[in-house]
Amino acid sequence: MIELSLAEISALVGGELTGAGGHGRVTGSVTLDSRTVGAGDLFVAVPGERVDGHDFVDAAAASGAVAALTTRPHDSLACVVVPDPVAALGRLAAGVHERLSARGMATLGITGSSGKTSTKDLLGQVLATAGPTVSPPGSYNNDIGLPLTVLGADERTRFLVLEMGSRGPGHIARLCRVAPPQVGVVLNVGSAHLGEFGSPEGIAAAKGELVEALPEHGTAVLTHDDPRVRGMAARTRARVLAVGRGHDADVRATDVVLDPSGRARFTLLAADEAHAVDLRVVGEHQVANALSAAGAALAVGMTPAAVAEALSAAESRSRWRMEVGRRPDGVTVVNDAYNANPESMRAALAALTGMAGERRIAVLGAMAELGEGAAAEHERLGRDAAAAGVDLIVAVGADAVGIAEGATAAGRRAGKESVHVPDRAAARELLAHLLRPGDVVLVKASRSYGLELLAADLLTDG
Ligand code: ATP
Ligand code: MG
Repeated sequence: MIELSLAEISALVGGELTGAGGHGRVTGSVTLDSRTVGAGDLFVAVPGERVDGHDFVDAAAASGAVAALTTRPHDSLACVVVPDPVAALGRLAAGVHERLSARGMATLGITGSSGKTSTKDLLGQVLATAGPTVSPPGSYNNDIGLPLTVLGADERTRFLVLEMGSRGPGHIARLCRVAPPQVGVVLNVGSAHLGEFGSPEGIAAAKGELVEALPEHGTAVLTHDDPRVRGMAARTRARVLAVGRGHDADVRATDVVLDPSGRARFTLLAADEAHAVDLRVVGEHQVANALSAAGAALAVGMTPAAVAEALSAAESRSRWRMEVGRRPDGVTVVNDAYNANPESMRAALAALTGMAGERRIAVLGAMAELGEGAAAEHERLGRDAAAAGVDLIVAVGADAVGIAEGATAAGRRAGKESVHVPDRAAARELLAHLLRPGDVVLVKASRSYGLELLAADLLTDG
């Protein structure tokens, strides 16, 4: 973070400075976790569901914190007292962002139903070849993660990459007020969190808040292959850069080929130039993510040649997303258990069926937060998985029973098998008997089902 005095911080957040040491300066970083506090840090006490950050103010003081952002004064430490520390964190980030933007830092925001973190990781690595870049670890995309990412930037930062998740109407607009982006990337509009938004149109409206927030001199990078995203061109003052596979896109991929390990090669066409890209990340869906990252990097002045080279060097940064592990006995385990919705399930299944192997096995748990259509979606997924050529489908857990039902119905025609098991342990036991050298196993479900543990077990069972 940039160095700030406690007086400056109090003024930015509209808080009251209490306690001794009020003349101090924050020279370290901003953190919510007292266990990671270091000398010169600002500790933010967030009242959580299970633990209250205020119980750890003394510990933060002992670890060298200069001050805390709290709802009440503490004897052990200077405090900036505010009614709502999370809201204050947003105001602090907004103040810091404004200063850094005035010094020329470019902010690039990414939203979409699937692929935000994957695209953020690609874009972060591409921009880092052009200048100092801050991009969040993991999936920091909410009212806490986004301000913390902003506060990780300093005077040297040239590019700030932000992941923006949408938890309801107005959420992305709020994130954009904290850190107004000049480049906005919208990847796709799917059915993630359909339960919360009611309809895909509701989801599109919420994601479109990103392009509405862009200034006239900004750039909206829109996936042309998705009609709901393409339609967002009408909602922005910014220049539109269309990315996609179709002929009418400004930034295109042609000649897409998947190698036997599931990695894509393609030709990047942009600004009348053509450059070869050889991705290291797995799955054809990464072509769309790479194109969006390319569009954003071009929007801040990188050349197509530099973008193609950097994309080809970019690695998978975040865990449990198409993470490929190989067992000594020759079984490949693809851990994509970070999250799941109907679109990302299909993307992962397409990647699986494109991979070379003896048998392709999909171990699938349920997709959460789908609302009313959940049962039908699970059954459809099972049918599509069987039809896609997956050799065996193992549906895990009570909520995933629909996947097995759909797969059994379709599998009978295609001569493919499917089974339902009650839990992770049963899945592990079944697979211990079943797996043979050369098999490729995909493990995927919504986060709450914890199937990454099963993927880890399968790897050690070999
Ligand atoms: P979250 O909302 O949980 O933060 P996210 O949008 O950040 O998710 P990622 O973590 O990048 O998404 O990817 C989650 C999964 O979605 C991947 O493991 C992959 O299966 C799938 N996926 C990634 N990119 C795409 C894409 N462009 N289209 C469809 N599915 C995708
Ligand atoms: Mg994410």
